[in-house]
Amino acid sequence: PVAHEGILRRQSLRESAARTYARSLPIVPVRARGLTIEGADGRRYLDCLSGAGTLALGHNHPVVLEAIKKVLASGAPLHVLDLATPVKDAFTTELFATLPRPLADSARIQFCGPAGTDAVEAALKLVRTATGRTGLLAFTGAYHGMTAGALGASGGATDVRVTRLPYPQNYRCPFGIGGERGAELAARWTENLLDDPKGGVPAPAGMILEPVQGEGGVIPAPDAWLRRMREITAARSIPLIADEVQTGVGRTGAFWAVEHSGIVPDVMVLSKAIGGSLPLAVIVYRSDLDTWQPGAHAGTFRGNQLAMAAGAATLAFVRENRLAERAATLGARMLGRLQGLAATHRCIGDVRGRGLMIGVELVDPDSDDPNAAAPPADPSLAAAVQQECLRRGLIVELGGRHAGVVRLLPPLTLTDEQANAVLDRFADALEAAEN
Ligand code: PMP
Repeated sequence: PVAHEGILRRQSLRESAARTYARSLPIVPVRARGLTIEGADGRRYLDCLSGAGTLALGHNHPVVLEAIKKVLASGAPLHVLDLATPVKDAFTTELFATLPRPLADSARIQFCGPAGTDAVEAALKLVRTATGRTGLLAFTGAYHGMTAGALGASGGATDVRVTRLPYPQNYRCPFGIGGERGAELAARWTENLLDDPKGGVPAPAGMILEPVQGEGGVIPAPDAWLRRMREITAARSIPLIADEVQTGVGRTGAFWAVEHSGIVPDVMVLSKAIGGSLPLAVIVYRSDLDTWQPGAHAGTFRGNQLAMAAGAATLAFVRENRLAERAATLGARMLGRLQGLAATHRCIGDVRGRGLMIGVELVDPDSDDPNAAAPPADPSLAAAVQQECLRRGLIVELGGRHAGVVRLLPPLTLTDEQANAVLDRFADALEAAEN
């Protein structure tokens, strides 16, 4: 406990004011396995933050550890820039085997790195090079990363080259419509803007979207809307970029979230789970977009051999064990139980998600604005629920445009018993935070 307090104190003094998770989660993890993290103070936690959705197989999964140990034992170099290696070959082969057709048949891969935001930058640069245009279409509430281009395409930021379009939302739809009709109106908004010769936008270099907005508060895009976005961009030769950094590798109940709607994007941005807990980020894209000159996109850390080995093992394990399907069924069951909780707790405004990407939006139910599409989000209740969860040994993330969404991103290896334990603790925490 002494070391625990000392570490927390020293880090809070030395680390920047931008510290994020470390602020709300005063834990000093020293051991972890699967769903469980153990702190330096000896306390154990069920981890539903999973490295912000990174840990598809939970912490230190044996197949991931084995893959890493194998590279270390083989004497292979750990750093080789972007040179070809057997490890890279195996990773690329495994990744390509999972890609949606027809993208898989002619895909090119660009190793970026090491973070999701780096791959977003590469994707934006690629479509700008390929089209010779600069403008971008992005969506309200989006999150693509923290470097300049990715940040500019994220909701709330301003970048003169980015046109912000409405992302459909069922709950809290600004027009109070929601559902399929609301989504179709959002699609028409986009269409009108692109086709309006006077007030519209010049032909853009690309459109970037998340199939399920994660940081934006777990907002799954309706399949019909995604198909409309595919149609609209294809008809105007606008490359469509799917940011699957958070939704990929089984998280939403399909290996890639775009598979639910059947759309095939021109570019996919992949990171988080593809590195099996280690930093790795790539873009895969249609070969005819591959207009870069040799060396046009470089970077020192694009060849992390350990991440590729851990990633290949993760991709194979998810595929062989049908963990996407498992995420779909278990996620639906968890959603059902949370919806039951919503029926008896007025402070739960909405429960939504896809697979094991789940959000519970907390609201102040007593607001009486007749024009509001929903009661206002309650970020202080959400923060209180997070702290009550922590006291009960459960780690959850907060998110959402109004910071009122409690997010659950458990590993895909979650057992039924673990899911029940998570939901029991969450229900308890909610009860305590409300009172
Ligand atoms: N895109 C999406 C959809 C994300 O969720 C994130 C991270 N939460 C990023 C991009 C950025 O990834 P990174 O934090 O690794 O830069």
